[in-house]
Amino acid sequence: MDISKINDIINSQKDFLNKNSNTISSRILLLKKLLLNIKIFEDEIYEALSKDLSKAKFESFLTEILLVEKEIKLFIKNLSKWSKDKKVKASILNFPSKNYLKPEPYGKVLIITPWNYPFQLSLTPLIGAFSSGNTVVIKPSELAPNTSSVLNRLIRETFPENIVSVIQGDAEVSKSLLSKKWDYIFFTGSTRVGKIVASEAAKNLTPVTLELGGKSPCIIDKGVNIEKAAKRIVSGKFINCGQTCIAPDYILVNDEIKSKLIDRLKIEIVKIYGNKPNQSNDYGRIISKNHVDRLIKIINGQNIVFGGHSNKEDKYIEPTLIIDPDINSPIMLEEIFGPILPIISYNDVREIEKVILKNPNPLAFYVFSNNKKFINYLINNFSFGGCVINDTLIHYINSNLPFGGIGNSGMGAYRGKYSFDTFSHYKPILKKQSMLDIPFRFGPYPKSFNTLKKLLSKF
Ligand code: NAD
Repeated sequence: MDISKINDIINSQKDFLNKNSNTISSRILLLKKLLLNIKIFEDEIYEALSKDLSKAKFESFLTEILLVEKEIKLFIKNLSKWSKDKKVKASILNFPSKNYLKPEPYGKVLIITPWNYPFQLSLTPLIGAFSSGNTVVIKPSELAPNTSSVLNRLIRETFPENIVSVIQGDAEVSKSLLSKKWDYIFFTGSTRVGKIVASEAAKNLTPVTLELGGKSPCIIDKGVNIEKAAKRIVSGKFINCGQTCIAPDYILVNDEIKSKLIDRLKIEIVKIYGNKPNQSNDYGRIISKNHVDRLIKIINGQNIVFGGHSNKEDKYIEPTLIIDPDINSPIMLEEIFGPILPIISYNDVREIEKVILKNPNPLAFYVFSNNKKFINYLINNFSFGGCVINDTLIHYINSNLPFGGIGNSGMGAYRGKYSFDTFSHYKPILKKQSMLDIPFRFGPYPKSFNTLKKLLSKF
């Protein structure tokens, strides 16, 4: 990418913002156009996702297109309401006054995205950023080139370049973009690159949202319905070939039910993907041969009780179950991001703590239990981005729940109204009436200090 092209786009977006012509109704019209164009591009999107990740058509619809369409419809319905000034209560000490919050866009937003849900993770933040009145540049991942290319055409067909643009390219392009002055940066990707983005943003004091990864634990208490739990874990872990930021990374299971759970997990994997997952139309592939190598390396030497086969040429790794890995081995120290599920048993909560605290602040936290006390203990004592009790992944579907991490798994959150808030600065405004002033505010200060102190402290 020619650096002068980046400058041209940034300058044209600046000019557009200066014109102040980005009305709510014009934004709603463009959101409607986006919805329509997604329908027009739908088959090309399926094809691109199949080429990049071997995603099954239905999985692409469910996890990429449907979520985006729902988000657009939510914004079309609520944008006028969300954009209104919000009245807040006045302080009696400012009586009489009117107090309100005025949402305003930050300005030029840069969105950098990963490859694992390359369509959805580019468009969902875009919908929030654009609808809130910002201009946007999206830098999609170079590792999903087919989807990036369709995305680029979809955006070009929908938005004028001075409002939303796609700039394709690798880490070098991303670095060039980060060296420019933005008003907000929204990054989804690894914790490693998240730190680079945060430090580049700090140079211009640009606010950031960081949507990162981590090792999301899945804790299984005794007394649960093992068939149901296994089915929900298998679907959450192996969808998109395990390349989901909120996939259960590993299982912590009560020792009493460990072998029953393992037997059931095997049954559920075969039920979904058959005895030969490499021949299943529903089973995806690893994004690149480098990632296949990385995954083969972390399986090596582990106690595999199911799967373990791979084919680098086909970017295939079989759904794999591993038991009792050393918690200091690479498989337990880095985010797996592939179809490999380590299973560790525990006898008491201290053993749970020991494992989870090795990788604190996971993005997701899953608990399967019928015991309220146990559930409350876990959700009150661990830090995480979001939690689901008795299922996996499904919190992402609900846009009434903010989605984001904490600490190692990121900062900030988005989805629905939370996206509008993320991409808006709420200007606090206080309008004082001219008729009345509380006299003691102005000097000379009153003599009756104790009486007035008592009176004012009451408010
Ligand atoms: P990544 O961090 O390698 O890349 C993400 C983006 O950053 C890409 O567009 C890439 O071109 C760019 N980039 C890479 N190196 C860069 C550098 N040095 N400077 C500037 N930009 C750079 O992540 P990935 O491999 O694409 O995605 C996988 C990671 O993303 C996993 O850790 C996963 O958990 C995380 N993820 C998080 C979420 C979430 O919502 N929290 C969603 C999906 C993926």
